[in-house]
Amino acid sequence: MNLADNILEAMKTVLPQGGGFLPLHEPVFPGNELAYTKECIDTTFVSSVGKFVDRFEEMLADYTGAKRAIAVTNGTAALHMALMLAGVKAGDEVIIPGLTFVATANAVAYIGAVPHIADSEEKTLGLDAQKLDAHLSEVAEVRNGECFNKETGRRISALVPMHVFGIPLDVDGLLAVCEKFSIPMVEDAAEAIGSFYKGKHCGRFGKIASLSFNGNKTITTGGGGAILTDDAEMADLCKHLTTTAKSPHKWEYFHDMVGYNYRMPNINAALGCAQMEKLDEILASKRKLAEKYATAFKDVEGVRFLTEPQECSSNYWFCTLVLEKGFEGDRDSILEATNGAAYMTRPLWTAMHRLPMFENCPRTDMSVAESLEKRVINIPSGAGIVGV
Ligand SMILES: *Cc1c(COP(=O)(O)O)cnc(C)c1O
Repeated sequence: MNLADNILEAMKTVLPQGGGFLPLHEPVFPGNELAYTKECIDTTFVSSVGKFVDRFEEMLADYTGAKRAIAVTNGTAALHMALMLAGVKAGDEVIIPGLTFVATANAVAYIGAVPHIADSEEKTLGLDAQKLDAHLSEVAEVRNGECFNKETGRRISALVPMHVFGIPLDVDGLLAVCEKFSIPMVEDAAEAIGSFYKGKHCGRFGKIASLSFNGNKTITTGGGGAILTDDAEMADLCKHLTTTAKSPHKWEYFHDMVGYNYRMPNINAALGCAQMEKLDEILASKRKLAEKYATAFKDVEGVRFLTEPQECSSNYWFCTLVLEKGFEGDRDSILEATNGAAYMTRPLWTAMHRLPMFENCPRTDMSVAESLEKRVINIPSGAGIVGV
């Protein structure tokens, strides 16, 4: 049998058969989702006012250990705000991984800054700290506590690690790079609610971080995101900026900055509160599924099931297969065979430096990302597969 057949056989030992098309990540609504959203409708508080936004923010802060959480319309908006609040300005450069969802690069571009694209490591699929260190040692210099790209003259004002599919990346390695080159860390923790690096929640390592609650994420608010920070001043400014920068007043419409309409509506936050109540159960189901996959793929030659690094806990947002080098040519037949068998599988994103709007951005050697692009496949991962 070939690799595609072997992979399909292994998947069949874990997944239900004959139940129709199995999506990559279906949301589950096992708790108070209907009750809370109905309450919004019954009370008419579906939009920008209501108690669920505050409650959701408190639940997020509690769970992650961040002092403050600010709920917004989506994860892209959250990252846009996080970068702005971290001090990224038009004309700066921001280091991002090439292997990420396009929102990471887009949020940088919204500010008028330029993505500086860096390579990933095989083990976690996250940014490679050593390679980045070597690259910055060549192209960057620190002047008056700020980092500059000597080749472009631009300031490098943030480094954005992204925990790919919820697998915590090498946080310590990247913090050391940030320290050495005086670059603030802004985590794109969009995929990482429920993931922990050495006991601390992902998104808690830089100045500020973003989360996403899109429909396909570990928990969902329909669409939604949040900013996490320990800095109360930054959090207050974030709330102000994301609510049109309106000065509090009984009736006047006075806005003291160019603000954004990024506030999460109450009905979405209602969904979020119900999902947060069930987060532990959802994570447990996803972990159980990942364990089953790990066992099923243990002896399949040519493929590795991606597992959490030591001392880390992944939310296993998207379960992931990494084909070994030499098996790149099998990727498309695996995608054909599994999708043909009604198991939804998908390849990795096209790396950022290969997208037309980012192809001229400064970057490191991208050989690992380019190799991984041809070898990574996501397989069905929803908590509902095992059941909540
Ligand atoms: C999901 C995601 C986002 C944000 O997505 P939204 O759909 O805007 O909530 C940002 N970065 C990464 C890496 C993501 O996976």
